[in-house]
Amino acid sequence: METVELRLKEVMAQLALPIKPEQEQLLLKYINLIIEGLSRQRLVGTRDSVEIIHKHIFDSLYPVTLNIFSPGEMLDLGTGAGLPGIPLKIMLSEQKIFFMDANRRKIVFLKKVCRELKLEQVVFLAGRAEEWARHPDYRERFQTVVCRAVADTAILAELALPLAKLGGEVFLYKGPRGENEAVAAKHALRLCGGEVKRIYHYRLPAGEKRTLVCLRKVENTPVIYPRKPGKPAKKPLN
Ligand code: SAH
Repeated sequence: METVELRLKEVMAQLALPIKPEQEQLLLKYINLIIEGLSRQRLVGTRDSVEIIHKHIFDSLYPVTLNIFSPGEMLDLGTGAGLPGIPLKIMLSEQKIFFMDANRRKIVFLKKVCRELKLEQVVFLAGRAEEWARHPDYRERFQTVVCRAVADTAILAELALPLAKLGGEVFLYKGPRGENEAVAAKHALRLCGGEVKRIYHYRLPAGEKRTLVCLRKVENTPVIYPRKPGKPAKKPLN
């Protein structure tokens, strides 16, 4: 068996996630598409398939092991090359997922991935979260928002919470300082109608520390948020 396939099996075993052969094939195809796409644009920081499995696939799928997603529509905000959305879509095959990214080329790549993997119930939103959050069809729409490696928590409070519905949840995939960031962003979260529900600490297969910050949308977001495109990052709330 090929190394990549073996490594993938190991990682799925480490996560204790049962995987069907079709799902395994889809994940392998996705890894190949990322590597292929890398020669044309910087999709993720590495060309190494084992590293993609250990760093990106494992991390993206960790929340599935916790069984924490409620039924309803999911948004992957700042999805880039499709992380965590594509691995989640492969493992939670019935889940409807919206992929949002400000970078149109990333969306073009994702459309190709979904076409080649024949993934259904996927929607693509090219453009900035600040703009989509003002669109009446999308504001306070999503039961679940996932967001990996996009910005600081105080900035994400303003980008992600307006898109989550009341009672919905936002999951921020963070590095080792995730908890401190979440504590520091308390005021920004409050202003946008959210609060920290729970924080999970875990490690990637090579030992790097990761944090999953779960927010709950407890109040409607005031209409003044998000501010104009670029403003949340330039002048974070707090
Ligand atoms: N989630 C992916 C990509 C991280 S890179 C991963 O884990 O690998 C961050 C991505 O967020 C980029 O593709 C960038 O275009 C997108 N992004 C940053 N700010 C954004 C905004 N305000 N609205 C929408 N997308 C944004």
